Amino acid sequence: MGPGPITVDPRVLRAMSTQLVGQYDPAMTALMTEVMALYREVFRTANEQTFLVDGTSRAGIEAALVSLLEPGDRVLVPVFGRFGLLLTEIAERCGAEVHTVEVPWGEVFTPEQVEEAVASVRPTVVAVVQGDTSTTMCQPLADLGEVCRRHDALLYCDATASLGGNPFETDAWGVDVVTAGLQKCLAGPSGSAPVTLSPRAVDVVQGRRHVEAGLRTDGDEGRGRRIASNYFDLAMVMDYWGPRRLNHHTEATTMLYGAHECARILLEEGLDEAHARHARHGRAVLAGVQALGLAVFGDVAHKMTNVVAVWVPDGVDGEAVRASMLTDFGIEIGTSFGPLAGRVWRIGTMGYNARTDAVLTTLAALEQVLRRAGTSPRPGAGVDAALEVYG
Ligand SMILES: *Cc1c(COP(=O)(O)O)cnc(C)c1O
Repeated sequence: MGPGPITVDPRVLRAMSTQLVGQYDPAMTALMTEVMALYREVFRTANEQTFLVDGTSRAGIEAALVSLLEPGDRVLVPVFGRFGLLLTEIAERCGAEVHTVEVPWGEVFTPEQVEEAVASVRPTVVAVVQGDTSTTMCQPLADLGEVCRRHDALLYCDATASLGGNPFETDAWGVDVVTAGLQKCLAGPSGSAPVTLSPRAVDVVQGRRHVEAGLRTDGDEGRGRRIASNYFDLAMVMDYWGPRRLNHHTEATTMLYGAHECARILLEEGLDEAHARHARHGRAVLAGVQALGLAVFGDVAHKMTNVVAVWVPDGVDGEAVRASMLTDFGIEIGTSFGPLAGRVWRIGTMGYNARTDAVLTTLAALEQVLRRAGTSPRPGAGVDAALEVYG
């Protein structure tokens, strides 16, 4: 019940025990095409270029940024937690000129704050996280696509922690590139990064294919500098997933099976229903921890549905509580990073763990552990409050 990775849906584990086939086997190429269509629905986009990058979520981030950014390009990163810092670090490694704006951990940006920064920095790319699990905040994105278009910038978003559990509208919000992972609300293991690119973003990436490297056969000289990574060269990866199926890496077949099943489970439930389920269980945990006397971290109005952070009470050894939850009850909860390391607990309800039994058992166990740690929660208070929410 931590902030991810989470317990994998058993259906995904079963799908991942399927036998492998060759990478040009018609069954394999058909499955790749199906995965593209499924993730278009998950991302709510008509983007042709919607596929998987093999690797954890960070591989998706790195592929997006190294393919979009040329050395010297200006990037703006609105930072509201640890993963914003990660975007900054990766963009720096791409040789970009990185500018940041920050709000204190536990808050999000207004569109006006972002627009003001965009207007002064004039970036080619704005890179932002949707749900930053380190602070549990969910950045509203609905207006940012418009802001970026007005200032002729591309909008990139890391939706790893939020996709599937919080609304995400790639096309309606005008987000140009989105990357994600399976190990949060998509109920899968880490190791595959679904991505989608708008035609505007595809144009930028395709402009960086190069004749001298033998990467172009279309007569175009290429407009930009060659992408610095081979594995994460999205122009090459798009050729591999596209109709020409030009050989690049060997697709991680088992992860493909997993990602395919994650999307099927989510879409069978329905995206709106999945968001509502995450919101319901998130509210139950929130009510439960508050009833146990714990103070919630950050701006609750902008909290992600699928994770809550609470302050470790004064005089309580936070790490001992986490250890007891794990060893005595078999339940993992998280702490956080940087300024919040050891000072908060983070409890997730994501993917397969966004379930009533998981929430109630966690709250019951937490009450016992808290009591032994020296606090005096009212007996049954957490479970009671959660049951109130479930009605
Ligand atoms: C969990 C998380 C990741 C994880 O990246 P991995 O490479 O899969 O470990 C990335 N971004 C955000 C916002 C996350 O919350």
